[in-house]
Amino acid sequence: MSRKPIIAANWKMNVTPSEAVTYLDSFLGTFKEAVPVDIVIGASFVTLPKAAELIGPNPAVSVAAQNMSHEASGAFTGETSAAMLNDVGVDYVILGHSERRSLYGECDSVINKKVHATLAAGMKPILCIGESLEEREGGKLESVLSEQLEGSLADVSAEQMADIVIAYEPVWAIGTGVTATSEQAQDTQKFVRSVLEKLFGGDVAGATRIQYGGSVKPGNAGELIGQPDIDGFLVGGAALDPTSFAEIVSAGIAG
Ligand code: PEP
Repeated sequence: MSRKPIIAANWKMNVTPSEAVTYLDSFLGTFKEAVPVDIVIGASFVTLPKAAELIGPNPAVSVAAQNMSHEASGAFTGETSAAMLNDVGVDYVILGHSERRSLYGECDSVINKKVHATLAAGMKPILCIGESLEEREGGKLESVLSEQLEGSLADVSAEQMADIVIAYEPVWAIGTGVTATSEQAQDTQKFVRSVLEKLFGGDVAGATRIQYGGSVKPGNAGELIGQPDIDGFLVGGAALDPTSFAEIVSAGIAG
């Protein structure tokens, strides 16, 4: 089954609104027309309105938030709702990133509520899953990933899966410069797809886009995207430079 690759920048807590102007001026110069890859810019809450305004109705590039509250509104100081993200033109919401899980204690049941709130608001979750090195070396890779998928996707329907992207990000490869080998990433993503098949059936599993994330760079993107179960990337560090992110996107287009 052919799946359109999706390549997303996760700027994390970097790139101010003013810096986004410089970045996007450079990046959008390269990507104005539709390309055979969906490109996503994941910006901080304060940078999102500026990024969405600069990107505008671009056929290739859309905007992602990096987190969201599952609550609709009310007394939740410091939180940001789906309606607020919708209002500024957000298309995707990155959920369950390992930094949210490890630094802010987000568990699968909270992530599941956020997945449902994102879908209900007409936006698309990019659901992150991944194992620690200790879990991989302790033989727990498959049980950890299965648990994360089952918990985060509880009560999601097969139809709703059309709007969900999975990002497989081994925690030991995020921001460390250590990339999973293309074989490790492929084997694991094939396993992730098999879990999706158990949960939602073969058609959904075959249609779901699964990104790889973890120290993706221009130098390794080509080999990784050549793997049959890798349908794009979630990119942190290397996406902070517009030229390097553009090179990664170009590797995705070259396929
Ligand atoms: C990430 O933040 O999701 C990520 C994969 O970071 P990096 O590319 O820096 O490893």
